[in-house]
Order: sequence, then structure tokens, then C-alpha cells
Amino acid sequence: MRRAVFVDRDGVICRNRKDHVRNWEQFVFLPGALTGLARLAKSDLCVVVITNQAIVNRQIVPAEVVEEINDRMVRAVASAGGRVDEVMYCPHRPDEHCACRKPRPGLLLQAAEKLDLDLGNSYLVGDAQSDIQAGQSVGCACYLVLTGRGKRQLIQSLLRGQRGFKIASDLRAATEDILRRQRGESGARIDVSTARDGR
Ligand SMILES: [Mg+2]
Ligand SMILES: [Zn+2]
Repeated sequence: MRRAVFVDRDGVICRNRKDHVRNWEQFVFLPGALTGLARLAKSDLCVVVITNQAIVNRQIVPAEVVEEINDRMVRAVASAGGRVDEVMYCPHRPDEHCACRKPRPGLLLQAAEKLDLDLGNSYLVGDAQSDIQAGQSVGCACYLVLTGRGKRQLIQSLLRGQRGFKIASDLRAATEDILRRQRGESGARIDVSTARDGR
């Protein structure tokens, strides 16, 4: 089983638009996003982008266009030294009550099934409370970034008393912390075995 980093798209990788990202020309990488993904690419963590795209079933943009935007994003990330192993999106409107629209964890569960992921030892980076809720419900360690909707979402989270997630300025900062935790865990394992030997 592999560990993964689940990354939300709009507001984490690319700039949010009030009228939605409807074509590749409107896709603007946020500062720190490509660098963060390039760092992750050097680790053995699986990188999965998970995104709500209700614009599909609202019939604003056809599914093929959303998929083309995602494909071009994956290629642009790769040419900047990064790696996206999988992109999964929910096309449903909120009123369809599907299992995959965040805050529901359906996309994470689908990815875990497809890629054999260890969700309880995986990470999620998002700019919205709904991302964090999806991650927390399957045991991921979650990061709220302050790009996109993050700052406003953070205030709401604090007012509602939601907790149990880390705050990072952007995807690069979240990535650096994830990689530190990964390194820290392997260090800790050595310590534990040493302690056991001494007992
Ligand atoms: Mg978002
Ligand atoms: Zn859905």
C-alpha cells in the first residue's frame, strides 16, 4: 500500500475564478504550486488531485473540457519536474447528493481502491473546509492552505471550532511540512527500535 498526498485543484494548484475555470487559458498556476509538486515528485508519495467540478452537471462546461484542462495541467506539472499520478473529479451538483462531492470522501475512497492507498497514513491539502472534512473522515492528515478561499475558510473554521488540521501558506509550504513529517517518521521508527532493544 502506498501513501498519498491528495491535492485540491482550484485555490491550491490554480487560481480560483468566480465564474469557474472554463478553459485552459483561464488556468493560472498559484505561486508555490509547481515547486511543491516538483518536491513531492522526488518522494515515493502518490500524488492525487481531487476536485469538485459541478460545472459539468450544471452544463456550464462539458466533461471533455474539464478532462482536457486536467490533462494539460498534468503535462504542465510534468514539464516543471512534478508528477500527478491521478486526477479524480466529481461532476455532480450539490442537489444530486452523490457520494463523491467533497466534503464526502468518495473520491478519496475511489482513489484508494484504484491505487491501493493507505488512507490513514496519507495527506490532504485543500483551501476549503469541505476538503478538510473529506480528508479527516478517512483519516488523512490535513492541511488548509491560505491561497484560494483558504483565509476566509480558516476564519469560518475557527468560528465553528473545527480543528485537527494544519495551516500552510501555500502548497509548497504544505509539501515541505509533509516531507518533513515523512522524514521524521522514519527517524522515529529507528528511535523506537532502539528503545525496545534497551528494555
Ligand atoms: Mg478549492
Ligand atoms: Zn459526485
